[in-house]
Amino acid sequence: MKKPRLGIFKLTSCDGCQLTVLNLEDDLVRLVDLFEMAYFPEAMDKPLRGTLDLALVEGSVSVPRQRNTIVEIRERSRHLIAMGSCATSGGLQALRNWANLASYKASTYPSPQAVQALSTSTPISEHVHVDYELYGCPITTQALSETLVAFLLGRRPMLRGYSVCMECKRHGIPCLLVSQGQPCLGPVTRAGCEALCPSLERPCYGCFGPKEDANVDGLLAWFEKMGLNARECQALLDKMNTYTFRKARLESRS
Ligand code: SF4
Ligand code: SF4
Repeated sequence: MKKPRLGIFKLTSCDGCQLTVLNLEDDLVRLVDLFEMAYFPEAMDKPLRGTLDLALVEGSVSVPRQRNTIVEIRERSRHLIAMGSCATSGGLQALRNWANLASYKASTYPSPQAVQALSTSTPISEHVHVDYELYGCPITTQALSETLVAFLLGRRPMLRGYSVCMECKRHGIPCLLVSQGQPCLGPVTRAGCEALCPSLERPCYGCFGPKEDANVDGLLAWFEKMGLNARECQALLDKMNTYTFRKARLESRS
């Protein structure tokens, strides 16, 4: 039977989600068995030719040429999956969406005029249709394996839409917010990490992005009662998922 052709791409990002593919370990061998690896610059230097059955895309659309690149990838791919916080939320680089790009460039680069950059960093879904989104910074090997198996079986991947708090409860982790008054974003953050940070007595900082129907304003009102001001609350959200956390706030108010 003909193997489905898989391509793995990168836009603006740190390569961490592509490294998660390489970290599949034993499953990586199975992946190479089950798919024809057509394009994966992190692991091979073969140029892309022809169409794909599945494209995994890491990174946000942050520089002008990437607006064409993502359209071209979409046109060549039967299915497209956005992989990680940059691809699903614009990433840490989306902090510039709320700032002045020219002043950022001037304070960072000796020749700012040479830097080609869009004034915003946006998720892939703002540019083309995306079949599924894999969350996290980086994504987990479990979610990646589940998504690839689901693709091969022709079903939807079973990804979690509920919050990190559910994982804390399942693992019997004492709540840092309730018992220690720590500002934990777990109640509004999508599960998938098995409550990694709370298990190490650190509050969640939202790297899996907003869960479905997240009541972000409700949680921030609680943080304000704990003594944080509005600016400190906003700073908690303004990390690798700043774009989708701000969007979730606006959507929950409308
Ligand atoms: S520690 Fe954080 S993630 Fe865990 S239950 Fe408390 S608020 Fe939720
Ligand atoms: S607890 Fe929160 S910050 Fe830590 S890995 Fe999980 S989602 Fe990311």
